Amino acid sequence: MPLVSMRQLLDEAAKGGYGVGAFNVNNMEQIQAIMEAARETKSPVIIQASRGARSYSQDKFLYHLMLAAAELYPEIPLVMHLDHGNSFETCKSAIELGFTSVMMDGSLKEDGKTPSTFDENVAVTKAVVDLAHKHGVTVEGEIGVLGGIEDGHGAGGSGLEHVTDPEQAVEFVKKTGVDALAIAIGTSHGAYKFSKKPDGSVLKMDRLIEIHKRLPHVHLVMHGSSSVPQDLQDVINQYGGKLKPTWGVPVEEIQLGIRNGVRKINVDTDNRLAITGAIRKVFAEQPEKFDPRDYLKPAREAMKKVVALRMTQFGQAGHASDYKPISIEEMKKFYAGQSAAAK
Ligand SMILES: [Zn+2]
Repeated sequence: MPLVSMRQLLDEAAKGGYGVGAFNVNNMEQIQAIMEAARETKSPVIIQASRGARSYSQDKFLYHLMLAAAELYPEIPLVMHLDHGNSFETCKSAIELGFTSVMMDGSLKEDGKTPSTFDENVAVTKAVVDLAHKHGVTVEGEIGVLGGIEDGHGAGGSGLEHVTDPEQAVEFVKKTGVDALAIAIGTSHGAYKFSKKPDGSVLKMDRLIEIHKRLPHVHLVMHGSSSVPQDLQDVINQYGGKLKPTWGVPVEEIQLGIRNGVRKINVDTDNRLAITGAIRKVFAEQPEKFDPRDYLKPAREAMKKVVALRMTQFGQAGHASDYKPISIEEMKKFYAGQSAAAK
């Protein structure tokens, strides 16, 4: 099966009432871990690359690994998505390379750090939507600003400084025509999301529910949604790591989100923790080993386990063969029809 449109995956997820995990990758082992988890759980899946990942890997390597994944796992609907595009040019280069979905994060200026104005966000996002839809490519926008920093991208802070305003969210969707919308409800990027188990004072699920009520047909996206489980932290610290105590987003909160319009859930940190823990364990227990496969294999296996668990928890498991993929060519026609109807 060729790489497919994220719009189709999310439309199907909305019909089925489930969420789809979007997992970040930088290399072959991470892609293999996700595909094996998808096969085991029969899940449609979104694989995403940030700007940092694109430069780390030279994105052509990633793209061809993704084509290999699509070829080797033909039963799995698979999307290649750009995470946090910072500018029109970044999104354009991803579309030209063959990504089937892009995020234009216009909530920040091009530096990826400074919050932008609403009008700046609308202008750049709309420009990306116009270009992407012509190519049959899906667009995720963002309104409100997430906390934390990852891969050098982010405004920093706690995640509560720029929580999404529902009124603005409605206006933003109307003006840009995005397919999916990332909202800020108190989550942050990175491992250090919360200094205690998050409750209603830090995670604004009521805000999410309100936005879904006003935009029932828009696919909502939760960023910074690793759960940062204690057991993964423990493995790292047990084998010489020095993680400070931290809490992520509890899976039950994500599941509450999924019942209220969340269709895409971004997870990166949990997989990083699983990989690092597995590698540390080999180094500590078998210090004589020096073949990279001796620690990359258990690392890949550890990540696969986390991904498979999330796929089950998000509800996407079992849905890989529910629908026939719509080609990107057909998606071009779909969007052309949509914009003709709007005129
Ligand atoms: Zn993000």
